[in-house]
Amino acid sequence: MAEDDLAPVSAADLPSLDRLLGMPDFQAALADYGRTQVTAALRADLDACRGEALAGNLSRETLAPEAFAARVTRTLAARNRATLRPVFNLTGTVLHTNLGRALLPEAAVDAVMQALTSPANLEFDLATGGRGDRDDLIAPLLCELTGGEAATVVNNNAAAVLLMLATLAKRREVVVSRGELVEIGGAFRIPDIMTHAGAKLVEIGTTNRTHAADYRNAIGEKTALLMKVHCSNYEVTGFTKSVDVSEVAAIAKPHGIPVAVDLGSGTLTPLERWGLPHETTVQETIAAGADLVTFSGDKLLGGPQAGMIVGRKDLIAKIKKHPLKRALRVGKLTLAALEPVLRLYRDPEHLPERLTTLRLLTRTRAEMAAQAERLAPVLAQSLGEAYTVTAAPMVSQIGSGALPVEQLPSYGLAIAPAGGGKRGSGRALAKLEAALRGLPYPVIGRISDQTLWLDLRCLEASDEACLTLQFAELRA
Ligand SMILES: *Cc1c(COP(=O)(O)O)cnc(C)c1O
Repeated sequence: MAEDDLAPVSAADLPSLDRLLGMPDFQAALADYGRTQVTAALRADLDACRGEALAGNLSRETLAPEAFAARVTRTLAARNRATLRPVFNLTGTVLHTNLGRALLPEAAVDAVMQALTSPANLEFDLATGGRGDRDDLIAPLLCELTGGEAATVVNNNAAAVLLMLATLAKRREVVVSRGELVEIGGAFRIPDIMTHAGAKLVEIGTTNRTHAADYRNAIGEKTALLMKVHCSNYEVTGFTKSVDVSEVAAIAKPHGIPVAVDLGSGTLTPLERWGLPHETTVQETIAAGADLVTFSGDKLLGGPQAGMIVGRKDLIAKIKKHPLKRALRVGKLTLAALEPVLRLYRDPEHLPERLTTLRLLTRTRAEMAAQAERLAPVLAQSLGEAYTVTAAPMVSQIGSGALPVEQLPSYGLAIAPAGGGKRGSGRALAKLEAALRGLPYPVIGRISDQTLWLDLRCLEASDEACLTLQFAELRA
């Protein structure tokens, strides 16, 4: 090292901003980020250098033009990284609300790409040249698949329930069993939605038991709806009694009172066909006599975030006229994604290959076990002595309130701190979990029983190589 390099650098030695920006080292950053951002980042860096120089801490190599350019590029790259990023969902929960729920099938991706970049007949009737209704793009398909007479789509199922209640039950009464007054994650509570819709909740029965007579006795002058709500994320077991939709419908009909069912997840096809537990379908609910059914687009249905209301024509017509419908309507990207997803249901034989959600739910344990056997040694090598990694059976769940107590046999990686159960092993696991979250494609698992579990159900073969590469980064 030359004598010169060791001499302290003073603030007077700092190059000027304009001189640096004119240097070849800065041209790439200028092309990528533009003059405004590069100038601001460089000015901040020069200010920091000045501070260091005054404190006598500035080294000469800090002042090389390529060093300035590298620091500025690093700062701008970090600042411009997308905040919504793809992650690996190895939590074992397939429809994970915090990780974005359903993944869309190829057909939906293509349709969204088209809708993003091209004008479309969103509210334009191609037959007459007049104004169209965006619901008409998918209502016929929804009716065909569910047996409903009419349908409308809004932002999500919470919006669907709110809109339905605001239209049909404002300043009137809605009868709901105490066993169905659910809270869904993220502050959706049936009693609160009632209040916001201006409806009066009439609670009947008890937490564990509600009888037909409870519905019958609750009906009065002001009754607008009898409503049933899917329990979604919990189950009442033991000494229980609830009244099914057909019985509630039989009670309501003579009074001319509609029956509404919030199915939550709801599915359009009997899942037991693929060895999954039965989840009440929308068709079954309509056939049982529900006048209106609401359900989500991005739960078991496997589509984009949306809320469907399907049922009686006269009621749907009223709902569509409510001013809230305009506030809660879906955009063209949602409709573009929803249509091809719904269309997949016309061909149930191919559904498990084509509908991503169903494909993940029906993966075989053998397939996931083989994946775990391939990945375990790779991860073990990256983690070194401090942890043991084993390919292990585990259980996944569907998530988003569908069949909360049903578990799907799955396979994945179980990681434990070496030496097991020692003091500090909790900290070692938390540290590893954080490191996995810190990867370029964050890996999200779950910790329980002093083990970090990486469930491979949602790791499709096409993503395996990317995960393997990331494991290698962990070593650093
Ligand atoms: C999930 C769920 C909702 C909320 O649906 P979002 O689409 O998340 O708005 C409402 N009711 C029930 C019963 C649910 O399971």
